[in-house]
Amino acid sequence: MEKTDDIKIKRGLDVLNSHKDSKLISHLNSCVHCGLCAKTCLYYLTTKDERFIPARKVELVSSIYRRYFTFTGRTFPGLVKARELDDKTVEEMVDLLYGACVMCGRCVQHCSIGVDIEYVVRKGREMLAEMGYVPGSLQSTVKAALETGNNMGISYEDFVDTVEWMEEELQDECNDTEARIPLNEHGKNVLYTLNPREPKFFPLSISAMAKVFYAAKESWTLSTNMYDVTNYAYFSSHPGEAKKIAQRMYDEMHKMKAKRLVLGECGHGVRSNRWEASNYIEKEFPFEAITSVELMAEYIRDGRIKPDKERIKDTVTLHDPCNLTRGSGVIKEQRYILKNCVNDLVEMTPHGTDNFCCGGGGGQLAMSEYNDRRLKIAELKIGQIRKTGAVIVATPCHNCIDQLIQINVTYNLNVQIKTLAEIVADSLPV
Ligand code: SF4
Ligand code: SF4
Repeated sequence: MEKTDDIKIKRGLDVLNSHKDSKLISHLNSCVHCGLCAKTCLYYLTTKDERFIPARKVELVSSIYRRYFTFTGRTFPGLVKARELDDKTVEEMVDLLYGACVMCGRCVQHCSIGVDIEYVVRKGREMLAEMGYVPGSLQSTVKAALETGNNMGISYEDFVDTVEWMEEELQDECNDTEARIPLNEHGKNVLYTLNPREPKFFPLSISAMAKVFYAAKESWTLSTNMYDVTNYAYFSSHPGEAKKIAQRMYDEMHKMKAKRLVLGECGHGVRSNRWEASNYIEKEFPFEAITSVELMAEYIRDGRIKPDKERIKDTVTLHDPCNLTRGSGVIKEQRYILKNCVNDLVEMTPHGTDNFCCGGGGGQLAMSEYNDRRLKIAELKIGQIRKTGAVIVATPCHNCIDQLIQINVTYNLNVQIKTLAEIVADSLPV
């Protein structure tokens, strides 16, 4: 790790400046050390390592605040356990805030006095990002998005080739040579966005959603210029880089003159675009931004698509992406969809707003440095899935899909993993 210096330390401490963020300061000073959050965090529950207790992560950032911004901390640091922002502290911060938190927010929900632990972790990450200590693999994902317009660095030609291939799949599936996946068409009702993992690794989820649009007779388009729903700078917590990515989506909506921005199946993509983007770019969206999950529920409710639940007889369970449920309040819609599309839905325990992360959140899937930990903390999810007896695990998030596919193999789960669009498409008798 590169050594700290005065410039880096100043940048990091600037994030803790109370004039900039009074919410942060109150949450840094509120913990009553009751210990309740320990049993809510999948890192502590699966490893019993006390360093991973959520309150410890808050305390780490809080101890730096005390050292530099309180009289006692400045004068008698030892008395209040105030810490220098030095190389040792930075190393610990990187390990705990990037490497041992999926930013799932579950601890926040269970904190006895409502400390926003996830927010403190995010601010701690912001300090590290401002100082240049984002883990290399995560930073290269952000860099790819900034430089190429999508976090996988997919070229224009490869993207168009994949979409054309999926259009052929769609035409076969719908038995209609006129069925299309429109590209760069202005003035449509919907500008649809994807997780770049779809064109790269899971193109069939693109044709699945295209089938849903086809069945609903939707006026929609993809943009070759900006289709990436993700914003990995939300995970690295670099506000300047997050702003650049968010601004690009805003500009694309203006250029394409679409009425609705539809955010594809990606938990943090939904949260970062729908709730955080206005903060990043410091203006409200003058257009509607909804999730594809809400849109598919709307199609069913309005009778625009008519799923046949008899087409999916296997037992299905639902994995709730943290950023979609706790982070964005989308909870009922995915259940409404599944109740209309499958015969046998079994919920995990716990689920909904109390769900456990799959282990791949918080940018963990992009941080190969912590792969072993990521697979270890998935033990909780594995246990939950096994108890349902499900054959299919549905989840509306490509990040979760990736993690579930990996743990399916690692732990011999033997289930199928599907997006919501794939389930809906399978249930449509087109
Ligand atoms: S946000 Fe999730 S992973 Fe992070 S400390 Fe809280 S419970 Fe643990
Ligand atoms: S539950 Fe809240 S108050 Fe209690 S130790 Fe954890 S962060 Fe502190």
